[in-house]
Amino acid sequence: MHWFLIAIGLAVVAAVLGHRLRRRREQARAYLKGVRSMISDDPDAAIEALSDAARLSSPEAIETYLALGDLFKREGDLPRAIRLHRNMLHRPGLPAGRRAEVERQLADDHRRAGMLDDAAEAYRRLMAAGDVLAAEGLRDVLVDQRRFGEAVEIHRSRCGPDARLLSHLLAARSRELREDDLAAALAVAREAEEADPAGADGLLALSEALSAAGDAPGAAQALERALLAAPEAALLAWPALSDLEPGAAEAALGRALAARPGDPRLLTLRGRWLASAGRAAEALAPLREALARDGDGEVTLALRELLRDSAPPDPAELAGRHDLMVAALMRSAGLLRCTRCGGGAAVRAWRCPRCGAFDAYELPESC
Ligand SMILES: [Zn+2]
Repeated sequence: MHWFLIAIGLAVVAAVLGHRLRRRREQARAYLKGVRSMISDDPDAAIEALSDAARLSSPEAIETYLALGDLFKREGDLPRAIRLHRNMLHRPGLPAGRRAEVERQLADDHRRAGMLDDAAEAYRRLMAAGDVLAAEGLRDVLVDQRRFGEAVEIHRSRCGPDARLLSHLLAARSRELREDDLAAALAVAREAEEADPAGADGLLALSEALSAAGDAPGAAQALERALLAAPEAALLAWPALSDLEPGAAEAALGRALAARPGDPRLLTLRGRWLASAGRAAEALAPLREALARDGDGEVTLALRELLRDSAPPDPAELAGRHDLMVAALMRSAGLLRCTRCGGGAAVRAWRCPRCGAFDAYELPESC
């Protein structure tokens, strides 16, 4: 009787072990199938196969799933990224510790797909549970929604300290306020300057607000500080420059060019300013020089945009304009590349429109 019970016990243990082994084999098989589908470029099969693997909650499957979601996002395939992350959340067996991470990924998919309300709601829920990364996500959605005041608030109260980012947010808020409340716009631009005294975006917002308030010397000084602080972003100084009174603008550009003679971005600004001041014939020389000195392609790209958008030339300037156009088209110039998401852009902006990162652009890839 005793031996009989032991034999039954052993049989049960063997059955349990056998079942576990089968489960692990199934799990490994599903996982492998998913990986093979990924490699063989069949993403839908990969999503299906990995769904099986994730049900069995192996950590490898979760990691592979998340990596696959990243891949979809990088390639701009947001519907698949959303389907994948939703699948993950609906599968039983996703460990509680990983749940917030997947929800954050799904919120990010929604943000990039332009489903901003869904993204904001998910981020708020996660943030309420103390998730700092979700607070950053919510801040980025608020910027997308152009709710800059709220974005500043969330950044200050919930995110890690980042003075440069804060100055960008305050600069955007200041520009938003300028139409309706100039005094508030000025105060916020001062806050941006205080947050990051070498932040060119904040200094330019300050220059624009000072121009609107009629303080031409202050506006010119803030503009010059911005040009010194971030020479690579000089083309973004155009709104502040064009707001200045003509005398102040010409003097400010002259001083900036004296500090960096031959700088192609500053020469582009000078040419553009001369053209907008009705001095198109004088504009050709600095623009030609800017093109000749363009070391990284950004000025070439900017000039193509400029020439495309500019008014038709007077008959006397036709030849000069034609030569400039041909020169700008003949030069090779790669797109600016976002260092975070790899998105390309022909024109520099403070923020990558694809992923929302600030100060994201390296210099163009081809020279
Ligand atoms: Zn980007």
